[in-house]
Parts: sequence; C-alpha cells; structure tokens
Amino acid sequence: MYKLLIIEDEPAILLGLKDELSKDFIVFEATNGKTGLELALRQEPHLILLDIILPDIDGFKICQQIKEKGVDSSIIILTARNQIVDKVKGLELGADDYITKPFSLEELKARIKAVLRRKEASWVESYKDKLLEIDFKRYKAFKKNKPIKLSLLEFKLLRFLVSHKGKVVSRKELLEQVWGYHTLPSTRTVDTHILSLRKKLGKNYIFTIHGLGYRFEPLPSNDLGDL
Ligand code: CA
Repeated sequence: MYKLLIIEDEPAILLGLKDELSKDFIVFEATNGKTGLELALRQEPHLILLDIILPDIDGFKICQQIKEKGVDSSIIILTARNQIVDKVKGLELGADDYITKPFSLEELKARIKAVLRRKEASWVESYKDKLLEIDFKRYKAFKKNKPIKLSLLEFKLLRFLVSHKGKVVSRKELLEQVWGYHTLPSTRTVDTHILSLRKKLGKNYIFTIHGLGYRFEPLPSNDLGDL
C-alpha cells in the first residue's frame, strides 16, 4: 500500500480526504507546515497532497524543502488559488500536479493515479559519462567535475529524456510526463527549457527531431564533447 501524506489546515477538507483516501492508502496527516515537513522527512510518503495557504510555512516552501532534502515523494498541490503564475511556480518547485479547490474527489483520485503511474514508470536515477555526472534523486549535476545549476524542472525534464535515451519523445509527451498537464503550459515552454538545458550541458546531448520532438543521446565514449 502506498503512503500518502495530507498537509491541509481546513478540518472539513482534511476529514473528507482522509475518509475517502484511507480506503486505498496509508494516510498521514498534518494541519500545519512544520508537522507536515517533519512527517514528509520521516515517512518519505509516496505522495503528498499539499495545501498552499497554511498557518505557518507557505506550501511552496514546503515543496522546495522536501525536494532539497532529496525526498522522492510525488507532490500534488491543493489550493484555492487558480492563477497560472501559482501553477507554474508549484511545478518549477518540483510539484507533480496541481488541483484547485473546490475539486471533486473523483478528479483528485484520477490525478493521484496518474501521478503514481508516472512514478512507477522506471525513470533512471543517475547518468554518468566522461563529462557529465547527474544524480536525479539528490538533484545534483556536475560537468567536468564542477557543479552545474539546474532547476528542478530541468532535472525532471532531463531525467525523462535520459530515461528514454535514443528514442524520440514528443513535446506533448514531455508536457504530460514532466509538467503533468495536458493544456498548460504551452509546447513553447518545453522548447525554452530544452534550450536552457542545452546551454548548461553542451550541445552534444539533446537533439531536435524536426516535427517530432527531442532525443537524448549519451556521449559516445571516444567523444570529449563540446566543452
Ligand atoms: Ca489552507
């Protein structure tokens, strides 16, 4: 059974979620950020449902700290805010999906399933060649032994590409699998992030396949790459 942590300060919502979800999950609960963060680090739940407006710590900060500590929980943000800027912020901080209140339990359950399915798909945990060394679980990346700074979204994007190395992945697939959205953000966002990744990694790794998408190719062993 999967472990699920609910961090939510509104008693009625918390109770409703707990009632429904404890049929399928081992449920932990917290009504403030501090307890939520402690439980996340101690229990390493598979999935966290995270409210943004909490009495003490901002949900975005919790999301960031969970990721920084290397906890591999998937995170679905639950909030009354429905502004695009908040959605993007949550995803940039490493959340897997976002659902705005009021939501139906059916929809939430479908989102949970989708997030867990993505988690189960076997994503690689690291990548290493002569130039690059990337630890996707600890969010650390090195080029020629020097640390390079990737955003959480760039780590996720790269992890997906590396997990499917040698294969073309479409922008739509990347949006669904990395961003977790079907409509937001636009495919141009994918291109922007790919460009940024290419700048950081060097041009050898991520290839554009016109009209189809992108492909990650590991560095050939005799290639010293584009330094
Ligand atoms: Ca709240």
